[in-house]
Amino acid sequence: MVSSSILGFPRIGGQRELKKTTEAYWQGKVSVDDLLAQGKQLRAHNWQLQKDAGVDVIPSNDFSFYDQVLDLSLLFNAIPERYTKFDLAPIDVLFAMGRGLQRKATETTAAVDVTALEMVKWFDSNYHYVRPTFSHSTEFKLNTAAGVKPVDEFNEAKALGIHTRPVILGPVSYLYLGKADKDSLDLEPISLLEKVLPVYKQLLAQLKAAGANEVQIDEPVLVLDLPEEIQSKFQQAYDALVGADLPELVLTTYFGDVRPNLSAISKLPVAGFHFDFVRVPEQLDEVAAILTDKQTLSVGIVDGRNIWKTNFAKATAFVQSAIAKVGADRVVVSTSSSLLHTPVDLENEAKLDPVIKDWFSFATQKLTEVVTIAKGVSGEDVSEALAANAASIKSRTESSITTNPKVQERLATINESLSTRKVPFPERLAVQKGKYNLPLFPTTTIGSFPQTKDIRVNRNKFAKGTITAEEYETFINKEIETVIRFQEEVGLDVLVHGEPERNDMVQYFGEQLEGFAFTTNGWVQSYGSRYVRPPIVVGDVSRPKAMTVKESVYAQSITKAPVKGMLTGPVTCLRWSFPRDDVSGKVQALQLGLALRDEVQDLEAAGITVIQVDEPAIREGLPLRAGKERSDYLNWAAQSFRVATSGVENTTQIHSHFCYSDLDPNHIKALDADVVSIEFSKKDDPNYIQEFSDYPNHIGLGLFDIHSPRIPSKEEFVARIEEILKVYPAANFWVNPDCGLKTRGWPEVKESLTNMVEAAKYFRAKY
Ligand code: GLN
Ligand code: ZN
Repeated sequence: MVSSSILGFPRIGGQRELKKTTEAYWQGKVSVDDLLAQGKQLRAHNWQLQKDAGVDVIPSNDFSFYDQVLDLSLLFNAIPERYTKFDLAPIDVLFAMGRGLQRKATETTAAVDVTALEMVKWFDSNYHYVRPTFSHSTEFKLNTAAGVKPVDEFNEAKALGIHTRPVILGPVSYLYLGKADKDSLDLEPISLLEKVLPVYKQLLAQLKAAGANEVQIDEPVLVLDLPEEIQSKFQQAYDALVGADLPELVLTTYFGDVRPNLSAISKLPVAGFHFDFVRVPEQLDEVAAILTDKQTLSVGIVDGRNIWKTNFAKATAFVQSAIAKVGADRVVVSTSSSLLHTPVDLENEAKLDPVIKDWFSFATQKLTEVVTIAKGVSGEDVSEALAANAASIKSRTESSITTNPKVQERLATINESLSTRKVPFPERLAVQKGKYNLPLFPTTTIGSFPQTKDIRVNRNKFAKGTITAEEYETFINKEIETVIRFQEEVGLDVLVHGEPERNDMVQYFGEQLEGFAFTTNGWVQSYGSRYVRPPIVVGDVSRPKAMTVKESVYAQSITKAPVKGMLTGPVTCLRWSFPRDDVSGKVQALQLGLALRDEVQDLEAAGITVIQVDEPAIREGLPLRAGKERSDYLNWAAQSFRVATSGVENTTQIHSHFCYSDLDPNHIKALDADVVSIEFSKKDDPNYIQEFSDYPNHIGLGLFDIHSPRIPSKEEFVARIEEILKVYPAANFWVNPDCGLKTRGWPEVKESLTNMVEAAKYFRAKY
């Protein structure tokens, strides 16, 4: 019998229960016990779901109240000192590290004021993890203040009669994905391996004692270009993690090609390996060759990153070829990665066109997929399921919904001149200076302002038809006016309309473009309690009519200051959607580039001549390894942005914005935007600041963390700008936050922006 497994299940709940309860807890509306009970209920539900579907190997410790990497930092006591001095409950330490905490003193408690740890993209996904942050004083030990989560959750499942396989991030990945804290910049995280291994060992021993015979240990960094020094650590790490009192380990990788690092893992004393064959089916021969005749091969063949139905015929044939290599008793059918990256349940989608819906498979459906494939290759009769699957696959391949000849014709017209601005930046800068006459250190924001309850309520009413389009427009205009007046009062230089009409920066466009499908409940965790509902690219993309002109024009009509038009760039629209798997990313991005080009030109024609095209996802899309795929990506990603933005006059100022990742200034240069803003407030590495010092065009290095409710003072802004100006030319420098303000409340936004503008004024007076 070939068994089935999954690497992890979404923890947010089919109705976003986790978000609702967590946010209520943050607002003091529910108790910590309520929060913990909600977690317990979700876990029980998910385990039962998997059991009922017939999944053989069911994960535990894939649950988290914020982020699984952060959980491990808390458990291993990798807690920077600044979070430990307030005597917070363990879960509040966790949340403080994840999102910062600022609390006024009360009669019984001292004031708390601490920023969040850095949050970065989880490989090339739109999930973010909280970066482990180490210093010379980090002292690893099992911090049992909140129990021992992996053991507790294993026992919790056991009490429900469900035997699980705990999931833990492996030691090499845990350290390599971390960074040195501000006070210990000379520290190489990997140098802490010897210190962290005993704690892993202790944890594993406790799991074994609880009855866990096997543990899934994730080493996703194996799909990166690893320095020799890191590669060499695997043997050391895993040699230390074998013993009679320890569970067997299945070493798991996903999202890419392991082959360049195969020698690092080819002699590890583990019970088995998992590889992602959805991404890289070509690696089968080579990875199978490293297995001893006892080690198992977990075949990741059901996509953990996308929502298309698995093609059973193809997947089955693939698993059979794996069986031919290592034997049926050693093959496990699995998802390519954790299902964290897919929406919970397709059954929650009542509004999808049934024809299109039949092409999809969400996390819950994927459970049945792994089980069916495993049964099929084990010789059980699954002919009915195979036939139904073949019919769905055929329906999609032959559907006219996916093809638009006009779009394909237009795509063929893209050439160098269509994707290049009329003159180079210095010449544009000269005419733009004359036109906008901005002061030194111009201030601006990234686009969104608080998405208040009032906004959400009205948007829902409009969607449900309980208010008319006119009433909704009046409401939105009022919101825009509030935002404009506020910015005028604070003294910002380049204004925004605040994006009140947008539910999400990608979904909003997906809903207006042809070629997209969208869900009503297809939420996926992005970070903490922030979830997104990615649209789905089902066919060739085009723009039937203007998408943003009305709101921008209204905003500009009520102020003399320039208002930035605000669009989401082609790469981000693609990356934050579920892409097609039947045409390349390049084709999809260029189609989006053309659609956005029309929008940019409509905005310009309507008098909106400062236009920001956000590309926060451009870095996350970078193929994980250096090589041709990466250089091709950089070319088409930049080209699709330039297709969107280069059809304008020299006086039109194109802005772009990036966040969440460590960026390479060279990648950004290729977009040739006039002004870029990047997330920067939590970047402490002086080398990183230095790297941007010769960025040729104008740039705003983000000055405050918008993921945190914390308010920086004017002095803090001044100090930060001063530090940056040591290496960065003042003449090119814009003053702005890290990112949009949609998740923040008005009081914080008012104070933060006021302080930020004051700081800009201080420097204007000085320079
Ligand atoms: N313009 C968007 C906003 O301000 C940008 C968001 C993002 O980069 N993630 O919300
Ligand atoms: Zn951003």
